[in-house]
Amino acid sequence: MVFEGLADKLQDTFKRLRGRGKLSETDVSEALREVRMALLEADVNFKVVKDFVSRVKERAIGQEVMDSLTPGQQVVKIVYDELAALMGGTQSRLNISSRPPTVIMLVGLQGAGKTTTAGKLANLLQRQNKRPLLVAADVYRPAAIKQLQVLGQQLDIPVFTLGDQESPVTIAQKSIDQANALLRDVVIIDTAGRLHINEELMQELRLIKGQAKPHEILLVVDAMTGQDAVGVAEAFNGQLGLDGVILTKLDGDARGGAALSIKAVTGCPIKFAGMGEKLDALEPFYPDRMASRILGMGDVLGLIEKAQASLDLDKARELEKKLRKDSFTFDDFLEQLQQVRKLGSMEQILSMIPGMGSQLKQLKNAELDEKDLKRTEAIIRSMTKKERQDPALINGSRRKRIASGSGTKVQDVNRLLKQFEETRKMMKRFQLMQKSGRKPKGFN
Ligand code: GDP
Repeated sequence: MVFEGLADKLQDTFKRLRGRGKLSETDVSEALREVRMALLEADVNFKVVKDFVSRVKERAIGQEVMDSLTPGQQVVKIVYDELAALMGGTQSRLNISSRPPTVIMLVGLQGAGKTTTAGKLANLLQRQNKRPLLVAADVYRPAAIKQLQVLGQQLDIPVFTLGDQESPVTIAQKSIDQANALLRDVVIIDTAGRLHINEELMQELRLIKGQAKPHEILLVVDAMTGQDAVGVAEAFNGQLGLDGVILTKLDGDARGGAALSIKAVTGCPIKFAGMGEKLDALEPFYPDRMASRILGMGDVLGLIEKAQASLDLDKARELEKKLRKDSFTFDDFLEQLQQVRKLGSMEQILSMIPGMGSQLKQLKNAELDEKDLKRTEAIIRSMTKKERQDPALINGSRRKRIASGSGTKVQDVNRLLKQFEETRKMMKRFQLMQKSGRKPKGFN
């Protein structure tokens, strides 16, 4: 899971900090030393770490924090703000042209996931009622054209190809006429990659850029290559000019160094993240939500969006209404769980639920799978209807009964209740936030 190591360490550090009534400058410095180590171990660029820590320190040893009744929480809030800022602050959207077609050129090294990402991006845009055209301009990798055609077939999206005998520049140019003829409003060009950056590659990409005049040049890089990915982004940006980055394989990147460094080092925002091999595993990149996940605060909004994209839309709307009215109950929770099977990996889902991040490791050791889902379902089913509507009714002896009724332990019941409560609180906060258009303030 992305940011797993970093999330564990930061959450440990802050747990200790939160427990204190008052903080001294030494407490803050010690905590920040741990933050620094954790970021370096996560493979974040050295200079980025240095600047980050000094920014946090400057704010955290200020009077406002020291005199606060909840100094630990204030420090966490500062770290949250700065982490989000490091990744670009707010979501960076695609630049969609008012005069279609919008031309998107994907560039990157071989194996980064460019062709797969072309398919995923087309899929995402199609879901947003756009009409994409995929363009096979990678004429060097033997299987690339076929791979794109197969993706196009799966998605029912046309693929423009002129085989491997025409030059990529001609293909790119003609694809735009084709888009106009087919009334396609977004053109996604899958360009050729190389194993390494070289002048030949850059020259070809510059020519395509000159002909196709893309509205967006997006670099596809593999998150798992850490600082190498940052170096690749620097080079492409310097030689070609980038509008953004798509970070692939974030699902397999436990460290997160590239995600945390790319914007700060290159100035290019991450626009999307690849979270798996499937065609629906591409997500818009939200710096604030990522920061929230790293600090174990979950990503409820992301979860809702995921649900809306993959699940029954009516049910999702109903859920959203309930969230807004703050009438989310265990029955809804149960329904969600039943639907969860339809959503990506359990790990991804759990990391989006507030308070679950730090428990992921233990859960994983206990072989997190269907069994865990079944257990949670069993606990909820052992509650009475009233209790599901109002969990405050569940006292100590009921917890025992529920545990024995569901074949689980009291700790399991307690954990679920706590998790439910946190989810509810989080939702309330987001709801308030949406009302006032504010960013989240303070933490439990
Ligand atoms: P290209 O050479 O850059 O066009 O790379 P491909 O699109 O052929 O992808 C290379 C490999 O990476 C394939 O096995 C993909 O399934 C895999 N891949 C691409 N994106 C992701 C991702 O976000 N997560 C994971 N786990 N695998 C990915």
